[in-house]
Amino acid sequence: GLFSKAAFYTTVNDLRDLPLHGGREVAFVGRSNAGKSSAINTLANHVRLAYTSKTPGRTQHLNYFSLGDDNYLVDLPGYGYAKVPPDVQKHWEKLLGDYLQTREELAGLVVIMDSRHPLTALDEGMLDWFAPTGKPVHVLLTKSDKLSRQQATKTLNSVKSYLNEHFPNCSVQLFSSLKKQGTEEAEAVIAGWLKE
Ligand code: GDP
Repeated sequence: GLFSKAAFYTTVNDLRDLPLHGGREVAFVGRSNAGKSSAINTLANHVRLAYTSKTPGRTQHLNYFSLGDDNYLVDLPGYGYAKVPPDVQKHWEKLLGDYLQTREELAGLVVIMDSRHPLTALDEGMLDWFAPTGKPVHVLLTKSDKLSRQQATKTLNSVKSYLNEHFPNCSVQLFSSLKKQGTEEAEAVIAGWLKE
C-alpha cells in the first residue's frame, strides 16, 4: 500500500528548513486529541510512527515521513489546545498558515475531526484558511467506532452536505483507528494526490 514504506524523514521548526525535494506532500492536521496520530499510525501500520502525545498541544513542529517514490506525509501540529501560551500559539499560526498557503509541494490536506463533534469553529477556520489554495481536502471523521452505525451514517451525511455546499474541494469519510476501518478509502483518495 501507499503507506507501507513510511519512515521518519525529518522535523521542521522553521519554514526556511522545509526539505527541498522534487516530490509531493500530503499533510495531516486536526484539533488536538481528534485522533490524528492514531490515524497516521493506522494508515502506516506502525504502532508509533507519529507520536501520540499525552500532553496535547506541545508539538509545534512539522514531522515529515517519507512514503517512497518521492512522496511525503507531513504531520502538522494539532490546534485548539486551550493551554497553549499566546507566543506558542502565534508561532503555530505563522508556521501553519505560511506552510498551508505557500507550500507548492503540498498536494492535498487531510483534516482529522472527531466524529462525535465534527466541524468545530476551529475546523471551519482551517477549511476557510486553506480553501483559497484550490487544493483538495479530505476529512477523516475519526473514532467512528464510538458511534452507532445509524449515528455514524447520519453524521457522515450531514458533514457531507455541509461540505458540498461550502467547500466543494472537500471530501469526507468515516474512520476508526481502533477498528482499522476506512483505511482503504483514505489511501485511495490520498494516492490520487501523490506521484505514482
Ligand atoms: P491527536 O492528538 O489528534 O494526535 O490524537 P491521538 O491519536 O493521540 O488520539 C487521542 C485519543 O483518542 C487517544 O486516547 C487515542 O487512543 C484515542 N483514539 C484515537 N483514534 C481513535 C479511534 O479511532 N477510536 C477510539 N475509540 N479511540 C481513538
